[in-house]
Amino acid sequence: MIRLFQPNLGDQELEAIQKTFSKSWIGLGEEVSNFEREFKEYIGSSYALALNSGSAALQLAIESFGFKKGKKVLVNNLTFIASATCILHNNLEPVLIDCNEDDLGINLEDAEKKVDKNTVALIVVHYAGHPAPMDKIMKFANQYNLKVIEDCAHCVGGIYKDKFLGTWGDIGCFSFEEKKGMTSGDGGMMVSNNENLIEKMRPNRWLGIDKDTWKRNSSYTSLGDLDTLHWHYEVSDLGFKYNMNDLSASIARVQLRRLKEFNSKRTYLVKLYLSYLENVDFIKPLINYDLNYPAYWIFGIRSFERDKVIRQLKSKGISTGVHYMPVSKHPLFRTYDINLPISTKIWKQFITLPLHTKLEEKDIRYVCQTLISYSD
Ligand SMILES: *Cc1c(COP(=O)(O)O)cnc(C)c1O
Repeated sequence: MIRLFQPNLGDQELEAIQKTFSKSWIGLGEEVSNFEREFKEYIGSSYALALNSGSAALQLAIESFGFKKGKKVLVNNLTFIASATCILHNNLEPVLIDCNEDDLGINLEDAEKKVDKNTVALIVVHYAGHPAPMDKIMKFANQYNLKVIEDCAHCVGGIYKDKFLGTWGDIGCFSFEEKKGMTSGDGGMMVSNNENLIEKMRPNRWLGIDKDTWKRNSSYTSLGDLDTLHWHYEVSDLGFKYNMNDLSASIARVQLRRLKEFNSKRTYLVKLYLSYLENVDFIKPLINYDLNYPAYWIFGIRSFERDKVIRQLKSKGISTGVHYMPVSKHPLFRTYDINLPISTKIWKQFITLPLHTKLEEKDIRYVCQTLISYSD
């Protein structure tokens, strides 16, 4: 079976875990701080906070602004459910925005229609890894005084107009879940150039405790018996248990060093898909892939016979997926299903095909030949 997604984990990751094991410190500690430093340097952001998931990053990102209950937040309708549940978790009102026909990204015309005086923020998802036009989005946001959170779960390492995605908006959120562009098992990151937004949330990733265990332990060791307050902490804000741990961070640090290699492999595979399918007029790519873009995470096609194609590929050992059923189709979001004609129609054509760094040219050829022969 050709898998849809597959992490790329090797000896380097194993060695990193082993080192962490030998320190016997696998919780929140030095590895997490090191990963935060390396990640923010990599994407060119001033502050970073490592968490145990991308969902946690989105939730804390919204919380960091301290919006009043009941205010509205715009978000793509076509996305993973976590892009929208973070709004409900903060007692705010999601406003689902339709997609563009071509790149499936957030539709600014629809956003323009739905924004009002109670709207406080916009969550923009870089769908499939394809960059949303952040210059236009920031202009729109500034015009309506909206905070911008970039959901970069699909586009780690992605760049738009010479600037890393995640650094255009007020806050960028990343996921290192096992299927994503790089992984730490599970994990997430929140980045910003605004120190206040990140540092205000640092205690909240650990139940509101304002000094982490590592700091307490190291100050205890250096001060020895003189320090009788090493155990002391006081909680003033209601927090969560959302911290990343050293075991995850040690994997993530290696994956970050390999990220460019991962992204260029996926880009190469997307190019192969496009070239094999180029002259097949009955198969349309999922989006208008830009061959100069370095960080695609989903490759897919659109088909009016989705289920037949899925069944055919499965019988030939090829896994497929559908990314995504729109948020508005989930029972939890039924009351927010308002005027979303494009996404609620075209999602039924989506078929995601295998894309991961372990695939080779022959695999892509096999998937494409299977697709083409079926339609003959
Ligand atoms: C994966 C994903 C998330 C959530 O990340 P987790 O690490 O799984 O919590 C958020 N948004 C999008 C668009 C995703 O694909």
